[in-house]
Amino acid sequence: MSIFPDLLHEEYDVEGDLILFRCRECGQTSMSLGALHGHCEKHRGYTRWGISLPFTESSPGNFDQLMELTEVLRVEETAEIDLEDVDGL
Ligand SMILES: [Zn+2]
Repeated sequence: MSIFPDLLHEEYDVEGDLILFRCRECGQTSMSLGALHGHCEKHRGYTRWGISLPFTESSPGNFDQLMELTEVLRVEETAEIDLEDVDGL
């Protein structure tokens, strides 16, 4: 089974388990592959000083290079928590 059935969808699962994407550089996670890849671009440096460098090794939107920075994690254990424990709400 492909874990990328439709790249336009921003949530994935394998046999009902949630899939998370994690940045190999700093450990940030996201359920959105697109959002994590946007994050990973910062590590690749193409936006350094706010300047985009197209047509280079680090050019933006290189899916294969971004996947090298991306760990794909299957969430097998879940635990109910209190809403107040959730960061970012
Ligand atoms: Zn990162």
